[in-house]
Amino acid sequence: MIKINEHYTEIGNNYLFAEIAKRVRDYKEIYPDKAVISLGIGDVTQAIVPVVIEAIHKATDEMANARTMRGYAPYEGYDFLVNAILKNDFLDRGISLEADEIFVSDGAKSDTGNIGDILSSNNRIAITDPAYPVYVDTNQMAGRIIELLPCTPANHFVPAFPEKIADVIYLCYPNNPTGTVLTKEQLEKWVDYALEHQSLILFDAAYEAYISQPDIPHSIYEIEGAKKTAIEFRSFSKTAGFTGMRAGYTVVPKELTAQTSKGEILSLNALWRRRQSTKFNGTAYIVQRGAEATYTQEGQKQIREVIAYYMENARIIQNGLENLGLTTYGGKNAPYIWVKTPHNLSSWEFFDLLLHKTQIVGTPGSGFGQAGEGFFRFTAFGNRENTLEAVERMKTL
Ligand code: PLP
Repeated sequence: MIKINEHYTEIGNNYLFAEIAKRVRDYKEIYPDKAVISLGIGDVTQAIVPVVIEAIHKATDEMANARTMRGYAPYEGYDFLVNAILKNDFLDRGISLEADEIFVSDGAKSDTGNIGDILSSNNRIAITDPAYPVYVDTNQMAGRIIELLPCTPANHFVPAFPEKIADVIYLCYPNNPTGTVLTKEQLEKWVDYALEHQSLILFDAAYEAYISQPDIPHSIYEIEGAKKTAIEFRSFSKTAGFTGMRAGYTVVPKELTAQTSKGEILSLNALWRRRQSTKFNGTAYIVQRGAEATYTQEGQKQIREVIAYYMENARIIQNGLENLGLTTYGGKNAPYIWVKTPHNLSSWEFFDLLLHKTQIVGTPGSGFGQAGEGFFRFTAFGNRENTLEAVERMKTL
């Protein structure tokens, strides 16, 4: 008889977005004429910028010719993209890395989810709470012990160190779902913790492009010593509207090592390369050419304009909520606004109230972890018209 991975019986159903969809569906059945606006999705809505589209078209044409077509891509990404990433995201920002420390992928979800392949199930894991669900779910699938680190207004959304020493720590900044950030000093403390305890930090910087304040690190490698202790995940999804194109990359510095049960020291870079070359067959050539184009001068200008558009949405939503007397967090360096529900409503009670009174859909904070209970997430990824309309409607709350 087939035996399953028992840990899959211990994880809950991935029910947050399914439950949201069901409640919206039920509502629309009763009120088919009401126009529902979603400020809940974490997906982009604006067109991919022209420079990227041109590059994709050109790459597609290359595929139409036997002389220029490309087959399997290198597992770690084409040199043209790796070198553009290296120069623009790191060297030009004063961070020294080498090309073979960068692994292009089909996005940060795969990499944050797959990284556990090279880590023992015996590692103790620390994860901020609330969090992007992939971290908790994938560690539960592997049967690892998890300690949650609550991030609430009481600690200004800065997680305290774990009670028991953690071998692996997930940090995501700018944060999904709270929209909050860590200053350089705050991140330094985590790097020092990890160096002291020989822990690994898994740093998810998927929203790096949304940072507007100068003292907020864009990369964990801005912190001294981080190359000995951290892996960083990046994504073109929110930076350049690639959610449907699929591209990201992961940095695994060669200085990073880990131990076998016999005490042998191995390179995580070498292990990740081995993992990727076995289980991953490269990101599409066309997509990589599109990603490369985001680093041209014109590409940077165009993607910055889209980010500015979303961040203006964030400002509009945040102002609207504050004008209603609600307390909000995030929204300045991230496309997410985290709001305390009024009158101590639970996250789902507020969801129902918003849907029924204003026909607006957001995401209940409790869906991101128990420390998210009593909070609610709005995203800035809508179009301007809907965002303005949503804020108008909320005045009737
Ligand atoms: N990491 C965080 C924190 C996210 O919020 C998301 C997407 O919402 C991802 C990673 C996934 O990014 P990608 O589209 O590159 O898989």
